[in-house]
Amino acid sequence: MTPCPLFLNGEWIQPKDLASTPVYNPSTGEVIAECPVGGAAEVDAAVQAAAAAFPAWRETPPVERARVFFRYRQLIEENFDRLCQTVSREHGKTLAEARGSVYRGLENVEYACGIPTLLMGDTLENLARGVDCETVHQPLGVCVGITPFNFPAMVPLWMFPLALACGNTFVLKPSEKVPLSAVLLVELLEQAGLPKGVLNLVQGGRESVDALLVHPEVKAISFVGSTPIAKYIYETGTRHGKRVQANGGAKNYIVVMPDADVTKTVEALSTAAFGCAGERCMAGSTAIAVGAAADRILPSLIDVARAIKVGPTDRAAQPDMGPVITAQHRDRVLSLVAGGEKEGAKIVCDGRGIRVPDAPNGFYVGATIVDQVAGEMTIAREEVFGPVLNVMRMEDLDHAIAQANASAFGNGAAIFTNSGAAAREFKHQVKAGMVGINVGVPATMAMFPFTGWDASFFGDLHIQGREAVQFYTRQKVTTTRWFGGEVGDVWRK
Ligand code: NAD
Repeated sequence: MTPCPLFLNGEWIQPKDLASTPVYNPSTGEVIAECPVGGAAEVDAAVQAAAAAFPAWRETPPVERARVFFRYRQLIEENFDRLCQTVSREHGKTLAEARGSVYRGLENVEYACGIPTLLMGDTLENLARGVDCETVHQPLGVCVGITPFNFPAMVPLWMFPLALACGNTFVLKPSEKVPLSAVLLVELLEQAGLPKGVLNLVQGGRESVDALLVHPEVKAISFVGSTPIAKYIYETGTRHGKRVQANGGAKNYIVVMPDADVTKTVEALSTAAFGCAGERCMAGSTAIAVGAAADRILPSLIDVARAIKVGPTDRAAQPDMGPVITAQHRDRVLSLVAGGEKEGAKIVCDGRGIRVPDAPNGFYVGATIVDQVAGEMTIAREEVFGPVLNVMRMEDLDHAIAQANASAFGNGAAIFTNSGAAAREFKHQVKAGMVGINVGVPATMAMFPFTGWDASFFGDLHIQGREAVQFYTRQKVTTTRWFGGEVGDVWRK
């Protein structure tokens, strides 16, 4: 069993008297660790340690804080394989997918290294005669990160590096389904020389979250997870006076125009729908084929999906796609597909009966394509979060945009076309915060905000980029006037 400790005030603690929940290797169904169900006492210890560490960390010059993250960047590179293997083992991503996601996380560390420049304020000389004005960005205090299962390293790295670089202290609560990558990330930051108490790690699920949401010392909360919980976190956190950014679930549409390049579009659709076994908030889970596009792309899309090799990701021979996170989640995905079939959709590539003989107890779903999906079907409205691509057929671009805009969510949307005019119309009209033009997964990189809309985001300032610097700081504006030129002054003849 891999240990799953807490990190409180610079000490690694393996609680003995707390209950625990199993952490699986989804490739095999084996239990690989026991995640302690956090309690209010552990959360309080973590928050108090972070609060005590704040005054000294706030006074640490931004260039010195940045140096910790330069070292951290180096340590992540040196431990890259170990980190990717941990992500792959507890989540089930292929090693290639784990590498991609850890790189996306690493870019957030690199972004945090630029904190001296990012924190610079504005000045205006002569606001009035002899009066100058300046803004500075000051940290908030104790910030909290609560993260989902689907990116065990990347999503935590969206949060604590920038929050800490801004001068805050932090308590991280990773998903109880994938707590081990977070342990490693915290260990490496400790090695990079972060002072004790500045970053703390608690484990568990709802109990820990509830204690964090109401703790009087917590000033800000970053959350990523499903929409119902994001809404709950936003409402509860703000009611208790905290600044909250809460990313929720998604249902992302990819419009395929009849003029789209078939080979490139099929390749992109397959990656967008089946990459990471569909467990991505930016998964392209619905293709809206306009006019003749469905009949142009579907035959080769079905061929590509059928050829996807599904299997365990914890061996030297890597599959194209790994398992989903738990047996329970697999059953939910399968029942949504069955529901779609019952409501009249056609399963044109059926991954439900997949067999993986060398890992019979793993949690597998094969690549599945559901054609002739209609807007009112449950499978069209709910986030499936599995390797399932819905196909809807629309007569023109206006109807395709209207269908995409009918979604409660607003994370990502993409169009595949060779027409600049169609792409421009789509980009302008579609109701989503991240748009791809011939890009299937338009997830933003560290220097841009992760701009979900509607039921995909609750709050004002998004994760990543300059918006995140604003989220983790508050501005102070100082207006200055000095009286000079009196008798006895030596500076003017
Ligand atoms: P989840 O909402 O079940 O859990 C997320 C976090 O909330 C975990 O740390 C969990 O312990 C905690 N939590 C769960 N139930 C809780 C409760 N009742 N009260 C308080 N805390 C609770 O999400 P998940 O299943 O781990 O992750 C998948 C979801 O995350 C998907 O909906 C996906 O779209 C979403 N997601 C969104 C983004 C984004 O940027 N919008 C990115 C990644 C994942």
